[in-house]
Amino acid sequence: MYNLNYVEPVFRPPSEWKSLILQVTNGCSWNKCTFCDMYTQSQKKFRPKSQIDLEQELQTVAQSTMPVKRVFLADGDAMTLSFRRLKAILEAIHKYLPGVQRVSSYCLPRNLNNKTVEELRELQELGLRLMYVGCESGDDKVLELVEKGETYQSSLAALNKIRAAGMKSSVMILNGLGGSKYLEQHAINSAKLMNDGQPDYLSTLVVSFPLGDQRFQENFKGDFQPLQQTELFREMKIMLETLELEKTIFRSDHASNYLVLKGTLGKDKQKLLNTVKAAINKPGTIPLRNEWERGL
Ligand code: SF4
Repeated sequence: MYNLNYVEPVFRPPSEWKSLILQVTNGCSWNKCTFCDMYTQSQKKFRPKSQIDLEQELQTVAQSTMPVKRVFLADGDAMTLSFRRLKAILEAIHKYLPGVQRVSSYCLPRNLNNKTVEELRELQELGLRLMYVGCESGDDKVLELVEKGETYQSSLAALNKIRAAGMKSSVMILNGLGGSKYLEQHAINSAKLMNDGQPDYLSTLVVSFPLGDQRFQENFKGDFQPLQQTELFREMKIMLETLELEKTIFRSDHASNYLVLKGTLGKDKQKLLNTVKAAINKPGTIPLRNEWERGL
């Protein structure tokens, strides 16, 4: 193991479990989304780490015998750093860990506003290959209510920029984010955003509030009714019906999901839809996660 100076807690996408987590920033520069408690503790106030400190950590890792092939830049939106800083970080990774094949990061759509496609392409050539974009929804009303600070158009612009730079995108949509009232428009507009953006990967997880939902409920002014299990499936059905993806790896297998869905869209669209319909119409015929198995 490496002895790195993490400010806990540290989060990463599930698929980065084998990666070196390099905490180039602490916290999230936005930190306002009402459904997110990841960086609300006082020690997680946003702050970039200095290049000198990062290089010392990379040296420590380089001295260990464990080979590093992948690096994930933490925390919540490392892509908020300037092009100049990201370039220096990627060059340092290459210098100390020449075996690294892929660097990835969470990316807020607005993180890309101050970077040109040419600059992003340069970062891609230096190893930055995958952006995890938490779109959460494609519906502007829902995005406003949860204070994401993004819109359908800003999210789409980021997905297009990522593709133009030759990077891959992995998008997260939050099942249940609009509650009962916005179920349909959340499902349809999220699917439309995906159709326009054609991400390489798409995942969904069920919105949950392990630390309570008080902050989240305030903006809904009493209008937020959490989705029950069958409503979650109905939202997923509408989204799948609307999705017109060409070659996107789809995963709905996070511990928060009752129903595990995996496939490639569009090839597996009908198969996945049949599974969701069976979960709605023929309860008991499709295996579901028990409440206690949902690691929230
Ligand atoms: S941008 Fe991401 S990390 Fe930051 S508050 Fe929103 S969901 Fe949390």
